[in-house]
Amino acid sequence: MRMGPGRTGMQRMQACVFCEIVAGESPASIFYEDEIALGFMTIGPATAGHAMIIPKKHAPYLADLDEETGRHLWTISQRTAAAIRESGVSCEGINLFLADGEAAFQEIFHLHIHVIPRYTGDPFKVVVDWDVRPSREELDQVAQQISSAYNHMWGGSRERGERL
Ligand SMILES: [Zn+2]
Repeated sequence: MRMGPGRTGMQRMQACVFCEIVAGESPASIFYEDEIALGFMTIGPATAGHAMIIPKKHAPYLADLDEETGRHLWTISQRTAAAIRESGVSCEGINLFLADGEAAFQEIFHLHIHVIPRYTGDPFKVVVDWDVRPSREELDQVAQQISSAYNHMWGGSRERGERL
């Protein structure tokens, strides 16, 4: 998110660079477009071929995205991953990455999915203390918390083993 140029006495809308790309007002290297989604190369790639998939309609956070659009973004991300593997760029693996919120490293508040080609020795790093191993009791406790919230928001989940 960045401010529009200049200041006047009138209240200005904050400009969104991804909305500007959708509108054709900012340059982008676009590789995919349909009615709902746009795919383009990020200007700050983790690796060569690092692509972004965005909804054309502005949605700052994951919670702002309608589920139908979310399904479509997933489909296009999945297809883009396959296209990257076919494309000839260095790619032994793929990461899909979505940052929802500042604490999750979201920097542009127009939701986007990163499709990142990976290869042995590439510069992409994820730093996590994988030595933390909670007890089963702790895992059950947090599963119960999430289950309660899920049921409150979306209705009950199925019992384990119940047929879909
Ligand atoms: Zn936007």
